[in-house]
Amino acid sequence: MPRRDYYEILGVPRTASPDEIKRAFRQLAREYHPDVNQDPRADERFKEINEAYQVLGDPQRRAQYDRGGRAAVGTGGPSPFGATPFDDLFDMFFGGAFGQERARAEEPGPERGSDLRVQLEVTLEEAAHGGERAIRVEREETCPACFGTGAEKGSAPEQCPGCRGAGQVRYSRRTAFGSFTQITTCPRCGGSGRVIGRPCRECRGGGRARVEREITISIPAGTEDGTRLRLRGEGDAGARGGERGDLYVDVRLAPHAVFERRGRDLHCEVPVSMVQAALGDEIRVPTLDGPVPTALPAGTQPGDTLTLRGQGFPGLRGGRGDLIVHIRVRIPEDLSKEEARLLLQFAKLRGEQVKPARKTLIGKLREHLS
Ligand SMILES: [Zn+2]
Ligand SMILES: [Zn+2]
Repeated sequence: MPRRDYYEILGVPRTASPDEIKRAFRQLAREYHPDVNQDPRADERFKEINEAYQVLGDPQRRAQYDRGGRAAVGTGGPSPFGATPFDDLFDMFFGGAFGQERARAEEPGPERGSDLRVQLEVTLEEAAHGGERAIRVEREETCPACFGTGAEKGSAPEQCPGCRGAGQVRYSRRTAFGSFTQITTCPRCGGSGRVIGRPCRECRGGGRARVEREITISIPAGTEDGTRLRLRGEGDAGARGGERGDLYVDVRLAPHAVFERRGRDLHCEVPVSMVQAALGDEIRVPTLDGPVPTALPAGTQPGDTLTLRGQGFPGLRGGRGDLIVHIRVRIPEDLSKEEARLLLQFAKLRGEQVKPARKTLIGKLREHLS
């Protein structure tokens, strides 16, 4: 006969009060008394229950048992396999893994909450300067109505009647080698040993609820496209007191209307007139910190670049790239007669022979409309 733990036999926790032990014993004794239970194994079970109660029902013997087990209270006959305790025998046949599995079934440990992942698109300016952004995340949180117990207000989780709180059920099997007991996780309570009589209305007994939360994310200055930020403990709540999961934020940089990033350098295009390009001028160049007056040298060619040192994208560890300004020279398409005449005169001064092309249809139309 398997030599189970007395507490397990009575289906009570080690911390049970004398009253709880007595109640559990009475209930089991009624159920397994050989006069009422026809199952041939009921007799064996009844003896087991009695033996357990004789020890646990007596405070002094219970204390001895808590310290030294069965040996300390001097009960329990020899096992049918001589001196080999049942658990050892079981391991001999099924390997040690079984023992581990059983330990898990007895105490379903805390379960860590899931990690969550969200994508966040930020502007180039936000990524460069850093800052805070509030985002909304839907996640599992400990149910505020039942504080995670899963039981409706005014009630509490009760001992599972399927396994009497043990979290596991045993099936006996007789073979040529003797009788074996198979132990499985209780299907009724899933191994927790407790069931919820009146489930919480908010979470339907799960103990967790989906809640939308606003979370403030701080974006470090110099955040790159594709950076993954980790916010510890901002993921789903754990089950049975497990630690919270993490929240991962994948940062994407939104395309910018003016700037293009190439590494730490920023590139932009600035249009100038052909007169500005020829004579030079002071132009306004956009930067991440606003427009900056910049000298355009005389004789600037289309596609020439100006470099503004230290006006690029900041690095996470300090330092800043450059801003490369690509100069686009605009050639006027809508010359008036007077402008065209002056340009021809200009060409003549430079000794150029220019035969102006006939105006395109669009050119004529523009002239007509103006
Ligand atoms: Zn709840
Ligand atoms: Zn159960």
